[in-house]
Amino acid sequence: MIPNSMRARDRAYVVHQQTNLRSFEDEGGLLITGGDGVYVVDDEGRRYLEAMAGMWSASLGFSEKRLAEAAHRQMQTLPFYHVFHARGHEPAAELAEALLAIAPCAPGAEPMARVMFHCSGSEANDTAIKLVWYYHNAIGKPAKKKIIGRVRGYHGSTVATASLSGNATMHAEFDLPLPIFRHTENPDYYRFHEEGESEEAFSRRMADRLEELILREGPDTIGAFFAEPVQGGGGAITPPARYFELVQAILKKYEILFIADEVICGFGRTGNMWGSQTYELRPDMISCGKALSASYQPISALMLTQRIHDAMLDQSAKLGNFSHGFTFAAHPVACAVALETLRIYEADDTLGHVRAVSPLFLEALSRFRDHPLVGDVRGVGLFAGVEMVADKATRRPFAPEWKVGERVQRACMGNGLFVRSIVDRIAFTPPLIIRPGEIEDMAARFGAALDEVLADLE
Ligand code: PLP
Repeated sequence: MIPNSMRARDRAYVVHQQTNLRSFEDEGGLLITGGDGVYVVDDEGRRYLEAMAGMWSASLGFSEKRLAEAAHRQMQTLPFYHVFHARGHEPAAELAEALLAIAPCAPGAEPMARVMFHCSGSEANDTAIKLVWYYHNAIGKPAKKKIIGRVRGYHGSTVATASLSGNATMHAEFDLPLPIFRHTENPDYYRFHEEGESEEAFSRRMADRLEELILREGPDTIGAFFAEPVQGGGGAITPPARYFELVQAILKKYEILFIADEVICGFGRTGNMWGSQTYELRPDMISCGKALSASYQPISALMLTQRIHDAMLDQSAKLGNFSHGFTFAAHPVACAVALETLRIYEADDTLGHVRAVSPLFLEALSRFRDHPLVGDVRGVGLFAGVEMVADKATRRPFAPEWKVGERVQRACMGNGLFVRSIVDRIAFTPPLIIRPGEIEDMAARFGAALDEVLADLE
């Protein structure tokens, strides 16, 4: 029988991503048909406040006409060209220049000097992994190949970036991780600190664990360490005090490259243009995506220091070619939309807006600290996590079969609010344009959902 509604066709033909496919087969899903500002609308006309900005990403909401116009203009001029074989186009050159002009550079750090464009955060990180290997071959340290990520870190879905991600469900039955990847402990202070341990002491313990791993493996075999400034997919986890300072000292000591994954944090999410500025990171490469184009076009970027690029020049001279590339990388329409996005951030002072509304956003969610289901509320800028626990005093989590996070997420949907549950952690990353009244609306809908789940559990 031919499916007779769009939902039925979706259910019949589309393989959904990061979805329980069996449940989807049985129950179907939701179709989103439009949006305005921070809200989206489904095919039955229901309106939801999108407190995840789609996929941590639609920074300018869902109805920014200036981006549609930028895409239209570029479509009429040069709808496609590539950047292979020494060819290029204006939108890529302009965007690379604009990105480097706003790239972070902590005192004493090497500035970013070059940009490679891709279509997704996964591709940008995947390329970064290849460049770690290419670089170490070029400088005569071919043994420095192992890559360290963190437990519950998230860096993408390709073979290499899923391996780098420290999430067991990303590995199970995919025969991952590849053997060259290692994972160090997750600096989730709330969940893992010991009784009476300060944030700083906890950070020291985490840094010690990283050093132990490096020594166990052999420093001469470790090529790079990847980290998100604030962990997204791991549960909206802000780094504890001095964590990155201590970790970076270890990386420097053992000549290990540091790649900052700014795919979520980049472009204002943490209250600075970059998470690297919020936490004083000194990376050798920076990956970004998502809010680079406000997610209106699939585009990501990997920024490199001159030192990395010099090694690429040497390899290229030796081998005759830099043999790497994607057809759609630096797509002119995506570049034009990203350029317009950066112009809007500047013209509208989006960063100033984030700084102005962030205190209300964090305070509105902090009100739930006293809620019986809530153990922790943490956040920075417009990035927050609320963690549910069975026992506030001992931080004991709920039994997994209770699926409390999932229930809260579902109750939020029932109250017209999209959030993301990561086990029992609820993440909030609304569009950066969210206004005070909408923050209150978000908190009211969340409170109603929490109360419903509480009543259900009692
Ligand atoms: N890195 C981080 C920190 C992410 O959160 C994500 C996606 O959520 C990625 C990389 C992968 O990006 P993409 O889904 O665009 O491949």
